[in-house]
Amino acid sequence: MSRRRQIYEGKAKILYEGPEPGTLIQYFKDDATAFNAQKKGTINGKGVINNRISEYVFTRLSHIGIPTHFIRRLNMREQLVRQVEIIPIEVVVRNVAAGSISKRLGIPEGEPLPHTLIEYYYKDDALGDPMIAEEHIACFGWASNEEMQDISSMAIRVNDFMVGMFAAINIRLVDFKLEFGRIWDGDYSRVILADEISPDGCRLWDMVTGEKLDKDRFRRDLGGEEEAYQEVARRLGLLDTDNGPSEVFDLSKHRKLRGK
Ligand code: C5P
Repeated sequence: MSRRRQIYEGKAKILYEGPEPGTLIQYFKDDATAFNAQKKGTINGKGVINNRISEYVFTRLSHIGIPTHFIRRLNMREQLVRQVEIIPIEVVVRNVAAGSISKRLGIPEGEPLPHTLIEYYYKDDALGDPMIAEEHIACFGWASNEEMQDISSMAIRVNDFMVGMFAAINIRLVDFKLEFGRIWDGDYSRVILADEISPDGCRLWDMVTGEKLDKDRFRRDLGGEEEAYQEVARRLGLLDTDNGPSEVFDLSKHRKLRGK
């Protein structure tokens, strides 16, 4: 059997050539990075969980009419996706101040924003993904005005849906990052949602305790990242809970243990 061809290796995923033209296999790694890969580590089982969570979210989004690259999950760590021409923009949607907006503008973390904000960052690791305005996107031709209209309206629809989806399982969707890609049909192209949606690229806070259930546990050395990712999957109904009574999720206990 011939070894399949690797197309790209990113920080958390590898892309391989797919079985048919126009498809790719997206492999989810356990590797975690933060601060533009200055901090590196592993979150055991993260790839398996993110594969499931992303499958679940993309499938539900397709049911509300959001076009996505997701075709089907292949196994524990891989999914079949459509090959797209990635638009080099990271689209960040924020409902509550946290992370870089709090740092940059001095808004306390946890303060709800007066309305949902969409920000754009230029996807370039060497430059540290700098924040950009729509004017930069138009000026440098990274996406057309028409594509930006599609992207911003999809981002708002994804947010509206995901805020409700997570609220139903007692999770506050603070912010998240999306990536979009172009697919071509002759001379015409359209924009679809690509990449992944998982606790790696979202801020998810428990609505009751405020505990962080996302990659900030890794970024901020809080510990309990495996448990946090599992908890999100469990609440979404994606983990097998038939193995005895489910334990009460208690990250504060974990923190004390780590602190010893
Ligand atoms: O760091 P910042 O506050 O700008 O991040 C906003 C949101 O976008 C967070 O949920 C974070 O996980 C996500 N993000 C990401 N990849 C990046 C930058 C941000 O997934 N390169």
